[in-house]
Amino acid sequence: MLKPMDSSTPGGLRAARARPAAAPAASPATSPRPVSPRAPARSMYLLHHLLEPNAGYRRLAAWLEARPRLRRLFTAAEKGVKQEIFGCRMCGQCTLPSTGYACPMTCPKQLRNGPCGGVGADGCCEVYPEMRCVWLEAVERAESQGRPGDLLRLQLPIDHRLWGQSSWIRYWQGRDEDLWTDAARSGTRQ
Ligand code: SF4
Ligand code: SF4
Repeated sequence: MLKPMDSSTPGGLRAARARPAAAPAASPATSPRPVSPRAPARSMYLLHHLLEPNAGYRRLAAWLEARPRLRRLFTAAEKGVKQEIFGCRMCGQCTLPSTGYACPMTCPKQLRNGPCGGVGADGCCEVYPEMRCVWLEAVERAESQGRPGDLLRLQLPIDHRLWGQSSWIRYWQGRDEDLWTDAARSGTRQ
């Protein structure tokens, strides 16, 4: 059984000081709070079709990646747009298309596979009762567009080294293809 660290002894203090920081340097400093998206689900699904990877986007993504300054500018623009609409926290591996365009990284527990057990009877968040659970938003938005099956996908753990990176560049280069399994592979039925 693990014993609690005793920092009152010289050895314990050294070990406590040697502990790694709680979060990777690139992760956001602010704690997540549920955000209700500011754009209708329908328009987001339509926009998704316009942004689907193709040869042109792939070339653009590769071109940007080869130019660090432009890539930083592009990433800042992506952050500005997505923060305003979804409360994006730049996890770098965007799952919006499979969550009704409600960002699960704004859930205080950062749950990417559905809500916790504490959603209030009125739909409020357990951690911030004055706010709506972001997963309730996801369900309502996906259902409103006839896509409730999207929420049955199993979201795989994300790579926390990618915080702060552009998920659009990754998406256009086909690097986000294993972010989730389809419903069949996850053992669920649509
Ligand atoms: S990139 Fe991550 S944090 Fe940003 S909207 Fe997509 S899932 Fe949310
Ligand atoms: S109720 Fe739970 S799942 Fe919903 S946003 Fe709050 S912490 Fe996340």
